[in-house]
Amino acid sequence: MRRTFESLSDHETPAKKQKIPADVRLEKDPINEFESSHPSSCDNLETKHVCPLVNTEAIKLQELTNSKQPTTLLDYFKRANNGKNLEQSCKTSINDKLKLSGESETTDVVKGDPSCEELWEELSELVVFTSKGVQPSNKIAGFDLDGTIIVTQSGRVFPQGPNDWKLQFPQVKTKLLELHHQGYKVVIFTNQLAVGNKKISIHDFISEIRNVGRTIGVPVQVFASTNRWSMYRKPCPGMWTFMTDKRNGGISVALPSSFFVGDAAGRSKGWAPGRKADFSCSDRKFALNIGLNFFTPEEYFLNYRPASYGLGQFDPRKAVNFAGPLCNPVNAKVVNERKELVVLVGYPGSGKSTFALRHLTPHDYCRVNRDALGSWQKCVQLSESALQRGRSVVVDNTSPDVESRARYINVAMRANVPARCFVFATSLEQSKHNNKFRGLCLSSQPDHKPVDELAYNSYRSKFVKPSVSEGFVEIININFMPEFKCESDRKLYAYFLV
Ligand SMILES: [Mg+2]
Repeated sequence: MRRTFESLSDHETPAKKQKIPADVRLEKDPINEFESSHPSSCDNLETKHVCPLVNTEAIKLQELTNSKQPTTLLDYFKRANNGKNLEQSCKTSINDKLKLSGESETTDVVKGDPSCEELWEELSELVVFTSKGVQPSNKIAGFDLDGTIIVTQSGRVFPQGPNDWKLQFPQVKTKLLELHHQGYKVVIFTNQLAVGNKKISIHDFISEIRNVGRTIGVPVQVFASTNRWSMYRKPCPGMWTFMTDKRNGGISVALPSSFFVGDAAGRSKGWAPGRKADFSCSDRKFALNIGLNFFTPEEYFLNYRPASYGLGQFDPRKAVNFAGPLCNPVNAKVVNERKELVVLVGYPGSGKSTFALRHLTPHDYCRVNRDALGSWQKCVQLSESALQRGRSVVVDNTSPDVESRARYINVAMRANVPARCFVFATSLEQSKHNNKFRGLCLSSQPDHKPVDELAYNSYRSKFVKPSVSEGFVEIININFMPEFKCESDRKLYAYFLV
């Protein structure tokens, strides 16, 4: 069967065969070197997330997220699952389906508990595979799948079928075997939106995972995230949290002796001779969120030196503490005593609605919003009638272009009131972060569904910087001021979410 993957970002361009340049090789195996410098104190089974973290980024994150109440990511899973807990939301065991269809074969493994069968589970946003012989461990060797463990055999960016794969490096098999013998549990954490979208059938995915597991030849547990807006999708830490809390036999995980390897590492073009930039940084951010040591496939399997990378312009760990100023210019007046019309301009998720509800509607501004009303014509009608009734108006739409703003400037002119424009300075990256954040907090903002990439592309293609020449008496820039209902929301915001 031919699979189509247009617009999916879960697979990276397969790595070309590269001659490894001598100057990017490390003499020592990074994990062995790491472990020898961090002796067994952290092998204590009681150490759950309390061992000192190794990289400084992780230390900063832990300091930030350690304040006050403990993280309860499960709260967000419950929200995502309409208040049900994880076990309740488990729709079905794929094992039952497989048994019904006579496909209850198990994978071959090097060693394991013969009483333990292969287990497939399908939750609302997650597929979990536990191969025969998987044992809980306090040491986790985590891997991404596509572009890390395997690449396409066809050389195409996206696989052409369930058999279009091969191990990325010959070293993969020996390294994983070594880890297994050292007592690590080998766990794959993979984003598989195509399975959730049914562009890849669950049966094809099962077939692929079984074959990969068989080829690797060690017991392996696989977590596959199937929903874009879920807490399970990397870089969100949900798959890891679910594994440690629910699928590790009650054994606490020692972070310092665990690690994660992935190809979405934020490396820029030319990080090694002839290599393209990484398509994303979600694997590295996943590891940062958790406080795990991170390696790229080349660093881990081929002993490359660490390549330079970027985390992007937006860092939620810093943004969570942004304390102002709210406006630019700083002394600009947000509320006008005179009747007026204010047009907000900004990306979806840039904070327009929160701003309007926090600063303007308490002063009797009528909030006009297209999502709520259904069309811009209704927005214009409501703006006119509110001004006629003597109220000020705030137009809470994205309004990226001159045309969309002119409709409301004309309304203001007809009512003989001034029109001002508030431009939200929130960056594209932060707006997308906010968009995902509010998707995870849907219970608190039920009327604000997250928007997809198309909405951002549309905004960017239409955007024209607002100008007083359009008819505004004043243009003010507004900074995004995070405010949280509870400490758990604050901690969630500080994670890399997209
Ligand atoms: Mg990958």
